[in-house]
Amino acid sequence: MKTLAGTLRWLLAPVFIFSGIVKLIDPVGTAIRIQDYALALLGSIPDADIATFLSVVLSATECVLGIFLLQGIWRRTTTLLILALLLFYTPLTWWLAHTDAVADCGCFGDFIHLTNWQTFWKNAVLLAMAIPTAIGAQHIRRIIPRRSITRVSLFNILYATTVALASLYEEPIIDFRPYHIGQDIIAAAEWGDDPDEVPDIVDLDLDVLPPTIHNDTCFTMLLLVPRLQTAQRDETQAINRLADLAQQHDIPFLCLTTSDTEAQHQWTLHTGALYPFAFMDQTTLQTMARSNPALLLLHGSTIVGKWGHHRIPDTEDVEDLIRQGQYAPSFLQNPHTRVERATFWLLVCYLIPFFAIAGLKRKPTTQTIKPNTMRKKIVAGNWKMNLSLQEGVALATELKGALAAAQPNCDVIICTPFIHLASVAQVVEGTAIGLGAENCADKEKGAYTGEVSAAQVKSTGAQYVILGHSERRAYYHETAQILKEKVNLALANGLKVIFCIGEVLEEREAGKQNQVVEAQLADSLFDLTAEQLSNIILAYEPVWAIGTGKTATAEQAEDMHAFIREVIARQFGQEAAQEISILYGGSCKPSNAREIFSKPDVDGGLIGGAALKCADFKGIIDAWD
Ligand code: PEP
Repeated sequence: MKTLAGTLRWLLAPVFIFSGIVKLIDPVGTAIRIQDYALALLGSIPDADIATFLSVVLSATECVLGIFLLQGIWRRTTTLLILALLLFYTPLTWWLAHTDAVADCGCFGDFIHLTNWQTFWKNAVLLAMAIPTAIGAQHIRRIIPRRSITRVSLFNILYATTVALASLYEEPIIDFRPYHIGQDIIAAAEWGDDPDEVPDIVDLDLDVLPPTIHNDTCFTMLLLVPRLQTAQRDETQAINRLADLAQQHDIPFLCLTTSDTEAQHQWTLHTGALYPFAFMDQTTLQTMARSNPALLLLHGSTIVGKWGHHRIPDTEDVEDLIRQGQYAPSFLQNPHTRVERATFWLLVCYLIPFFAIAGLKRKPTTQTIKPNTMRKKIVAGNWKMNLSLQEGVALATELKGALAAAQPNCDVIICTPFIHLASVAQVVEGTAIGLGAENCADKEKGAYTGEVSAAQVKSTGAQYVILGHSERRAYYHETAQILKEKVNLALANGLKVIFCIGEVLEEREAGKQNQVVEAQLADSLFDLTAEQLSNIILAYEPVWAIGTGKTATAEQAEDMHAFIREVIARQFGQEAAQEISILYGGSCKPSNAREIFSKPDVDGGLIGGAALKCADFKGIIDAWD
């Protein structure tokens, strides 16, 4: 499930981002489709403003969910919402495929037109992918640090909304419709005889257009005003000036509208318009331009300029365009560069602020992390299942005596079997020696015969607990999930956790040690807050070195410790990484401790066998002198 959810996320997320963004850049087009759906489903068409609002909300939700999934943030909520959307869309599109109630599903805006059956199958496949993704959501790796989640989430929402509003204000940022700049409308009208190819162009009535569209050297200006009564009127003077300019250059200027002659008369009266009108189908007009009004400049039958009502150009700009078109027709814009340019700017406008706020750091190398001399240096003993109660008390007493003479240069902790805890707590009381258990239950309390809870450990006077030791992982089948429960309970009960991680020999031989250790950290600790993490001590214990007499070299230990610190920095930030103590464990003894502890990222040791003899343990503690 872990690998499946992790892999499917890379497939689902781009589809959601893409289908969200192609709709977001054309909110009016999406609103028209919402009206089509409402008519088919409910038998009534919602008001254009309501449809536009729904269009922005739905498209932004789709796009933002895709981005969240890609970044691995709000994993459970995101994957559940994606699942919920698909559980809604899949039966709906199945019904559409059967009834053909809506001609164009619009799931990829005007970028790709799918048939209703293709849409249904697409949704069915996405649904099949969304189920395991939602089940394995906790395994989806986050690619931004936890501390940046809120600001990155807000930025994602802001970005999606801004793209929609910018497209509402103007024409779509990227124009995928059959009337984009560069389109030959005669060719498109013929091509449009196949409704699957260009579904919206079939109604273009070329006969109402001026004959100049058939002459490659002539310009034509078309003012598109789907409804004269509701059109924005703030730019009518600028439009009139362009109509005058057209007249000076013998360029036909025609207003295409669905409104009747009375509305045309009123428009002329109110705006002083001197140009003629022609009737055109509403869908065609709305496909040609989303604004009301909008202006089109044609060179021959090719669209070379297109402006929404917020950007009606100055006469000088249009004159320049006409002049350039007359002397160098090739200068007129290439539609492909426009799409590429718009895509480029959409990406730049996302990525620059994203990197600024996401707090992503270049992968730190061992050199870039400065050793933190303030970090706690620790030597912790792990007695395992050794020593009777009396022997344990005697060893603790001996250690207390040995350390009483000279204060050690590190924190000293002894982790004992449960039965020793209360007695040893009395021995070490009032000294600098810390006390810990070797395990605790993954349940809070109750009928769990033989188990010892974190609260019970704490009640003995212990302050620490070892969790995740390889022996418990291997012999008692403690999984990452169980360890996660134990860590949470230990922290909740005020215990500090010595959390062990490390690879087995085969994993090291296969070169997978980093991968294994990172997964152990991620699976049990990545849901902690930075504050909780401050109560964790990590212990890297290569399993092949535990109790075998085989020690990792100081370089091997340092490499892994530096890597662990990188992983912590990526997840919890540089400060947390610098503060966390990382101990080395595995056949550590007085003879090798000094060399291993000399490495900048090694903050001490977790000692097994050598912790059972006071002299050996003291010898290791003295390595910090
Ligand atoms: C351990 O079990 O934590 C350990 C490090 O053991 P040893 O020192 O005996 O290898």
